[in-house]
Amino acid sequence: MICGVNGQDGAYLAAFLLGKGYAVVGTSRDAANINTSNLDRLGLRGKVRLESMDITSAANVLDIITRVAPDEIYNLAGQSSVAKSFTQPVETIESVVTGTLNILECIRIAGRPIRFYNAGSSESFGDNASTPADENTPFSPKSPYAAAKAAAFWLVASYRQSFGIYCCSGLLFNHESILRPQDFVTQKIVAAAVRIVMGGKEKLVLGNMDIQRDWGWAPEYIEAMWLMLQQERAADYVIATGQTHSLTDFVAESFGQCGLEWRDHVEFSTAHRRPTDIAVVKANPSLAKNQLGWQAQIQLTEIIHKLIDGARAVHRR
Ligand code: NDP
Repeated sequence: MICGVNGQDGAYLAAFLLGKGYAVVGTSRDAANINTSNLDRLGLRGKVRLESMDITSAANVLDIITRVAPDEIYNLAGQSSVAKSFTQPVETIESVVTGTLNILECIRIAGRPIRFYNAGSSESFGDNASTPADENTPFSPKSPYAAAKAAAFWLVASYRQSFGIYCCSGLLFNHESILRPQDFVTQKIVAAAVRIVMGGKEKLVLGNMDIQRDWGWAPEYIEAMWLMLQQERAADYVIATGQTHSLTDFVAESFGQCGLEWRDHVEFSTAHRRPTDIAVVKANPSLAKNQLGWQAQIQLTEIIHKLIDGARAVHRR
């Protein structure tokens, strides 16, 4: 059972699990009117059973989990934008914290050995320029989104310790793909570079280009989620490439791969800055490598190459 199946990660995970022979049930807030664009892009229409689920309603979550009787639950649903969490903090807290708690409670009440993966986030670490973050690094959240993810992380840890439930959090650093919506800065950059190289007359307006992030390729990160549920004992893992780049590097590489000089096409506006932003993140994903046998293979240059290919295909349509 995948909560948030038509999101970026949900769609890739559905494809991955179907490939392994799983029967996949996917939830959306409104399965009858769900925009299945991500599932459609991966050719999954009709292959996933869709259910409506309001993750903030305990009764609704209990009803679905009772009817579906899943062996594994992956919770990828909830408000997922850091920027939006500043303007919609209540939706963010309710969908992430109450949503996670509802699933944990339903697993406890169901009394079956359901394994549970919850989508944590590197945002919970806050700034960590000096030492790369691992599973023991303290949290220092800087946004409502990060605070919500930190609270959900501790709920998962608490249910694991208190009730012996097989549940874990993936502390995933940023991961991109062609399924990411354009309100995320990486897609915004790539889409603008492609429009400009195809003849568009526009300026790309950005906020803070000094931020540094660890960007990975989403389809690879899906396998780490699955591996976390196949271990003898449940544990939390940092999932990242282990390489940090600045947003300036991202912009220069994106425009460079399109044969453009980024300085000719990019402007800055303080209006695009967030109330607070994390300056630098660094990740140490060695536990995932040693225990799960998982390591990111695709690094920034190739990620941008794939994103540009995807944006060109959309532009041609
Ligand atoms: P998406 O935003 O693509 O997907 C999340 C899904 O959750 C949406 O498709 C939507 O489904 C549902 N959703 C959105 N808002 C709400 C809400 N208010 N209440 C309930 N459901 C909602 O996210 P990703 O696939 O990129 O990420 C998956 C998970 O991983 C998320 O929890 C995200 O926070 C986390 N994460 C992602 C990272 C990344 O770089 N992508 C990094 C670290 C963590 P529908 O409209 O069908 O209901």
